[in-house]
Amino acid sequence: MTTFFDLHIHTQKYSDCSFIHPEELIAQALEAKLNGFALTEHGMRWPDEEFDKLKKIAEPHGLVLINGQEISARNEKNEMEGDFLVFGMKYSLTGRYAAAELAQLVHDQNGIIIAAHPYKLSRRGKTHYYGAGDKIYHLPIDAIELYHPDHSSLAVAKVQKAMQKLGIPGVGGSDAHKIFNVGSCVTVFENKIKNEADFVEQIRRGNVEAQKRV
Ligand SMILES: [Zn+2]
Ligand SMILES: [Zn+2]
Repeated sequence: MTTFFDLHIHTQKYSDCSFIHPEELIAQALEAKLNGFALTEHGMRWPDEEFDKLKKIAEPHGLVLINGQEISARNEKNEMEGDFLVFGMKYSLTGRYAAAELAQLVHDQNGIIIAAHPYKLSRRGKTHYYGAGDKIYHLPIDAIELYHPDHSSLAVAKVQKAMQKLGIPGVGGSDAHKIFNVGSCVTVFENKIKNEADFVEQIRRGNVEAQKRV
């Protein structure tokens, strides 16, 4: 049984830049025919108590919630090394981490790390990215965001090339900051996902594919 997850969502509760109210998000996820979604706030993971409250609202509807986080990696010179989605960690990664250091830490804690929108162009254009860009070739990442609303067809082609070279899967996420974007890009799991452990394991095994819905 295939299941559909939006892997990348920000809410106004913990991301100042988002307009999405968490309870509204549950209704929209059902509307978008998702089986679940991941919360990936900037620089933090939802506190367990708050996350469990939201999960209790979602569960009766058959929605599986995943508590992730989106971390902007920075090197020792404080230069951006790209954004990464992290899952399976039990605490917020609030410090400054270089990308390689972040990947190591996440794997030490049995989590997974995904390069978020690696080829999303920055305003400086051309080869300046809001993501890791070609650095993904040198990082022990578990998956790459393939479909993302800010990935051009060229960006998609670049990710597909990297997926093949690195032998890792592509995933899809909406990076929604507004409610109607929820579910615009999704990750399709080959198997039924009951919880975070299933979710992490299936991505690690590569039993997923990305899908663009709009
Ligand atoms: Zn990002
Ligand atoms: Zn994001």
